[in-house]
Amino acid sequence: MEHIIKYNWRYIILVTFLFTLVLNAQHQHEKYQLLPFGSIKPSGWIKTQMQKDVAGFVGNLDVIVPDLINDPIYSSARLHKQSVVKDLGNNKEGDTEGSEQYKWWNSETQSNWWDGFIRNVLLLNDKEGIKKVDKHIQEVLQSQDKDGYIGIYDQELRYKFNSENGELWSKATMYRGLLAYYEYTKDKQVWNAIVKAVDNVMTNYPIGTSSPYSSGNQFNGGVSHGLTFTDVLDKMYQITGNTKYAEYALFLYLDFSKTYQSEKDVQLPNIFNPNYKLQSHGVHTYEHLRPLIVAAYASNNIELKKALEIYIKRIEKTTTLTGGAIGDEWIAERNADATTTGYEYCSLHELLDSYSVLLQKQGDLKTAETIETIFYNAAQGSRNPNHSSIAYLKTDNSYEMEGTKNGEVEPNRKQTRYKYSPAHQDAAVCCNPNAGRITPYFLEKAWLKENNNTLVNVLLSPNIMETIIQNKTIKIETITEYPYQNKFTFVISNPNYAQPIIKIRKPSWVSKVLTNESYILENDFIVIDRKMGSEDKIQIEFNTEIQIKEDTNKEKYFSYGALFYAKPIIAIEKKGKTYFNNFMDLTYKPIDTNRFQFIEDHQASFSNGQLIIKAKNINTHQIENITLIPFSKTILRQLSF
Ligand SMILES: [Zn+2]
Repeated sequence: MEHIIKYNWRYIILVTFLFTLVLNAQHQHEKYQLLPFGSIKPSGWIKTQMQKDVAGFVGNLDVIVPDLINDPIYSSARLHKQSVVKDLGNNKEGDTEGSEQYKWWNSETQSNWWDGFIRNVLLLNDKEGIKKVDKHIQEVLQSQDKDGYIGIYDQELRYKFNSENGELWSKATMYRGLLAYYEYTKDKQVWNAIVKAVDNVMTNYPIGTSSPYSSGNQFNGGVSHGLTFTDVLDKMYQITGNTKYAEYALFLYLDFSKTYQSEKDVQLPNIFNPNYKLQSHGVHTYEHLRPLIVAAYASNNIELKKALEIYIKRIEKTTTLTGGAIGDEWIAERNADATTTGYEYCSLHELLDSYSVLLQKQGDLKTAETIETIFYNAAQGSRNPNHSSIAYLKTDNSYEMEGTKNGEVEPNRKQTRYKYSPAHQDAAVCCNPNAGRITPYFLEKAWLKENNNTLVNVLLSPNIMETIIQNKTIKIETITEYPYQNKFTFVISNPNYAQPIIKIRKPSWVSKVLTNESYILENDFIVIDRKMGSEDKIQIEFNTEIQIKEDTNKEKYFSYGALFYAKPIIAIEKKGKTYFNNFMDLTYKPIDTNRFQFIEDHQASFSNGQLIIKAKNINTHQIENITLIPFSKTILRQLSF
């Protein structure tokens, strides 16, 4: 005990010391530059899926859970001293975190939903959706006070808290959407409103002399989510180049590190404690990777960079091979397991987003591969392939989806999260809004810029990218079925003869690159540096082999290219709660209870998008031929053998 206290003192001193760095921070060079939101639009199967989402739960959440979305919490019904806890239609048994959080919850539900909706309809050029978005943005602008405040608290409460609150979190979620809208439309009025609103935060929580994250010593999940206000600051820094935003983000992270937090994985003393294991609420832990990245780059400080490395290694241990990071809901010092650790859809989105910030700043291609793994495997594999709904919680091996985790009985909670729903209102309407965000966020980082003359395709996907390079417009459409096939045609429309260098990421699983282009390989990039015509084309195909990957529990996963393959399990589909317009909850009960074991002589072969393997039936002890399909297209499944 004494040792721990001494240890923590050492780091309280460190954090205090780091504060002195805020004033003379030297921003570290960031490897790649972002293209403004909207530069990369979906095409192919991703576009089709987004259109279905907009016709489905992403476009209709406001009518599926109207009370949550229509609560004017940012305007006429801002929270005040007499505000009471809201009934959000969720089942609270087993919740030990207190009810104060239910006051601000609607702000998260609304703003995360709007953020996803705004991005989807803008990227799809969905006229009806855009009309709705324009109206919403006008309402947000009207809600802004003269001093710049956009948020959920009245004059008396705002910025004056000593307990759980959603001040910064309600702003982070809303301003992220406003920034996307601004980047797409270049609407000056919206930009000015955001600048004023962010200034209002910086004035009321002054750098160095205030403590925005001080909120007593009880559960403070909302305060802690508010650390992602650094998302807004990082984007403001990217857009303006003004380091005041990055420095303020550094200040926020350091203040978070030295104050009491119930979600404490990312606090510096805990990162530097070698015996500490991740234990907080998963979503918080993964979204908090971003503030740490932003702080490390804002300060260019060696201790923070070390902390970042340690934190990333810890997260890797909580993540299954498909990218499913423990989120069911506290990590509780566990390591990932294919059957027993569930991942929340929110965690998938937050971790993907955090890695994409890391990729942009650090440029490590391993990170790009991790992002694709999450998006194409765990995240796609948590969607219902036949209905517009997602799983709130999901496991790699999914043997039932009747509300519970592979038959586990939780003593203090009626678990309902392991099912498919367009809302999951009985638990919390958090995952569905985030399921609307993940695709636009993934696409946003597909292409990045390097040194003003290089276009870098880091995340492979069907998309249409349009940008200005060397003061000339260029458009590149990636035509591909990837990751279901590994063949790409890049159709280049280049009327003004821009001459960029084009880099295309070569994934680690590629055994051979087939192309007529002459290229050099540079750090797993295929670098094409040749004269580009006004209408041009690059064709590339990757060969790959079946790979068998082993997780830390020595279970075997079969992969081919970017995808994992699982044995689907036949199930009975049962209807649950029905919402507006035939949207409904669905549960799945298995019919087939056979389980299979890995054998060395598996003779795996790939054809027509499927893997055929030999495996031992655990029930009958017979060796059988079984067919594995892309994990992303399954409901119940056995993935690890
Ligand atoms: Zn969630």
